[in-house]
Amino acid sequence: MLMKKYDLLSNKAENFMANNEIEKNLSTALSLSKNEAYLKEVIEKARQAKGLSPIEATSLLLSNFEMINQSILEIAQTIKEDYYGNRIVLFAPLYLSNYCVNSCTYCPYHISNKTMPRKKMTQTEIKQEIYALLEMGHKRLALELGEDPVHNPISYVLESIETIYSIIHSSGEIRRVNVNIAATSAENYKLLQQAEIGTYILFQETYNQKNYELLHPRGPKSDYAYHTEAMDRAITGGLEDVGLGVLFGLHNYAYEFMGLLMHSLHLEKTYGIGPHTISVPRLCPADGIDVNSFSNALPDDIFLKIIALLRISIPYTGLIISTREKSLVREKALSLGISQISGGSKTTVGGYSVYSNPKDTAQFDISDNRTLDEIVYWLMKNGHIPSFCTSCYGKHRQGEDFMKICKSKQISQFCTPNALLTLQEYLNNYASKETKDLGIELLKKELQKISGVRKTIIENRLKHLNQTGNVVFF
Ligand code: SAM
Repeated sequence: MLMKKYDLLSNKAENFMANNEIEKNLSTALSLSKNEAYLKEVIEKARQAKGLSPIEATSLLLSNFEMINQSILEIAQTIKEDYYGNRIVLFAPLYLSNYCVNSCTYCPYHISNKTMPRKKMTQTEIKQEIYALLEMGHKRLALELGEDPVHNPISYVLESIETIYSIIHSSGEIRRVNVNIAATSAENYKLLQQAEIGTYILFQETYNQKNYELLHPRGPKSDYAYHTEAMDRAITGGLEDVGLGVLFGLHNYAYEFMGLLMHSLHLEKTYGIGPHTISVPRLCPADGIDVNSFSNALPDDIFLKIIALLRISIPYTGLIISTREKSLVREKALSLGISQISGGSKTTVGGYSVYSNPKDTAQFDISDNRTLDEIVYWLMKNGHIPSFCTSCYGKHRQGEDFMKICKSKQISQFCTPNALLTLQEYLNNYASKETKDLGIELLKKELQKISGVRKTIIENRLKHLNQTGNVVFF
């Protein structure tokens, strides 16, 4: 591979994600990771909660000093509280279609998997799925599809979004649709923006070009540059909230961590918009996918350290963990800076209500199979406020504006009251008796932490919600 010239502000992957620059930065971080005096300085900088550079953060990741590791965990916890308070936002994935023309070697949707039945939901089936999700209490979705220009063209995605937003049901409505579809053109991103999606999410899978090409041997996704430049096209197309992620387990974790931070910095410096969210999926067993054939499995302790360091390095970003992880890992991850989780999820097409065979089209095996109500209960038991808030999008707190509010730590002024309101809405309409009882106690406790006019305004809006059923967001 040719040596590429690194340029943070270029929109070409060969420059802003020059792999030789990742390697150079990694070797600098590795030597700094042995220098305790330097690491202590970085820890002091981390305490200021203004973020860390990719090299600083990766040197902490590669370090092995007990005291440094302890400080990382403590600081991450404090930053999460300072920026977002103790609320955790809930969402559900919705798999629309598993038709796919790609050949990703880790994904069961790959084109040569002939044993997996292929399904694509009709608009009527999508409605049925939405009713099931609404009855559970969900308000926020992440749409998931394989890449297939014939079965899943952009017109199908747009029609499905329109169907979802048009549903007003006795159990509520979906208020925010995030979209995770394959890299596409700036024109298609513009169409998604016009369809009023929330965040556009795309996982890089791996930042290492050579490995990326081995893992994606054929199909449109095999083009590393087109995939890596997707967020540049998305932002140019008008989407202001973009979500990054790598699939941990495909390549060396320090390399991926460095790549993620360099990608975030590139977006922030070039467009003034860093990642709205970062997801931390780990490779899971799935139909025909043997995780043991991938040699970069990420142990739990390093996985949790990565989460803590992402929180410290990019304090303003939302951090998402899915049901790929077991409840115990999710519990630890929550205290280290995760701000959004999925709950009651199905990774099968039509899995919430339409199709009976629960596993035949699953994208990966779920490790946390609890219902949404059980997740809400568990969050509250662990001192978090479960939140179904979707307010930022409706109030145009997006992109650069969102970053500004978040960086100045003002976002929790919105997040906490909105979490309380949407929790009350959940308790009124969807919760089991046990969850409701615990929720009422939690609301009382949380309100005691607030004082003055602010408390009165929140109490008035809670009263209004209880009388009318309507949430008036902050
Ligand atoms: N087709 C789109 C794309 O290619 O980006 C949407 C992605 S797919 C529905 C969502 C994500 O699932 C992928 O980006 C990948 O990271 C993840 N995934 C695929 N196989 C997986 C596995 N075996 N375990 C865990 N996650 C997996």
